[in-house]
Amino acid sequence: MVDLYNQYLKIKDDIDGGISSVIESSSFVKGGKVIDFQKNLEQYLGVKHVIPVANGTDALQISLMALGLKAGDEVITPTFTFIATAEVVALLGLTPVLVDVDTDTFCIDLKAVEKAITPKTKAIVPVHLFGQNANMEGLMAIAKKHNLFVVEDACQSMGSKYIFSDGQMCHSGTIGDIGCTSFFPSKNLGCYGDGGAIFTNNSEIAERITTIANHGMRVRYHHDIIGVNSRLDSIQAAVLDAKLPHLDSYVEARRKAAEFYNKSFARMPKVITPKTSSYTTHSYHQYTLRLVGIDRQILIDEMAKKGIPVMIYYPIPLHLQKAYRDERYRQGDFPIAEQLADTVCSLPMHTELDDEQLNYITTNFLNIISYL
Ligand SMILES: *Cc1c(COP(=O)(O)O)cnc(C)c1O
Repeated sequence: MVDLYNQYLKIKDDIDGGISSVIESSSFVKGGKVIDFQKNLEQYLGVKHVIPVANGTDALQISLMALGLKAGDEVITPTFTFIATAEVVALLGLTPVLVDVDTDTFCIDLKAVEKAITPKTKAIVPVHLFGQNANMEGLMAIAKKHNLFVVEDACQSMGSKYIFSDGQMCHSGTIGDIGCTSFFPSKNLGCYGDGGAIFTNNSEIAERITTIANHGMRVRYHHDIIGVNSRLDSIQAAVLDAKLPHLDSYVEARRKAAEFYNKSFARMPKVITPKTSSYTTHSYHQYTLRLVGIDRQILIDEMAKKGIPVMIYYPIPLHLQKAYRDERYRQGDFPIAEQLADTVCSLPMHTELDDEQLNYITTNFLNIISYL
């Protein structure tokens, strides 16, 4: 699904040099490299504050902690996403309110959001799934009308841009009150372990987030609020700082691979290729197809025989997960998410796919589905 080693070889000197410099300085935590990367990412994103943390799940949790919510407050989030989005809501004693997604974009459905709002609703967490942004302009209007916070889960959308109706553009994760991302190795901007970051243009929220991520401590050993320990380490920051200048070209490589797939499958009625909305660019964290009338498991097995991995992101929507079963929800409540869970599949997608590999993947894929 990914090829991190060949990506590394192309910038080996920068990565090795960055890691060596951290070891030589022996400043492993909160070192200069973390600050360098923080500043460079602020500049890249065009955002006032970046707060590096230990991973994307922590980024989401700390963001929600910074909003001063209380037990039982409701947080609206899509049911078709990675578990972390709802997990942190539940862990904090808040109530996840799940909503369905849009068939074409796989992102949160705004009509469903409006219907789900109650007097207890305090925040919305849209997920920019697979690398394209949810409809943020529409969502911000809803949030404003109902006085709700918006925390963007931009864990999959680093490098993609939002396009406002007046033509202005900005980076994914920089529109809501807070944006969160992950630097898990396979993400668009990945480190060599775990990492994450929080973005915000609100200096007060940034100060609270920084404090919470550091044990709730402003002055050493004085703990003002209950916090956590969540930090990006200097070695990961060195890797990220070496990779950040290449992020746009990485996204471009993903887009080229996606175009190759799109063209190859354009005339196949059994396959629906991913659609990109007019208000967003797509960074193709995943290349996710919808299959029509095809036995997905046979396809996966046959592709595996050719050495081609095909993955399902995500096979079970959150409302049908054991840990999140709830009297409020049952099978059939979120028909789009349920249909997607049953019909999507993702093909290999990374920065190192060349035409030969893409040809091999698409030729085999087309061969197999022709007899399924
Ligand atoms: C990867 C991911 C996360 C969690 O990031 P980690 O760094 O693995 O904790 C959260 N939300 C989404 C949508 C993700 O893809």
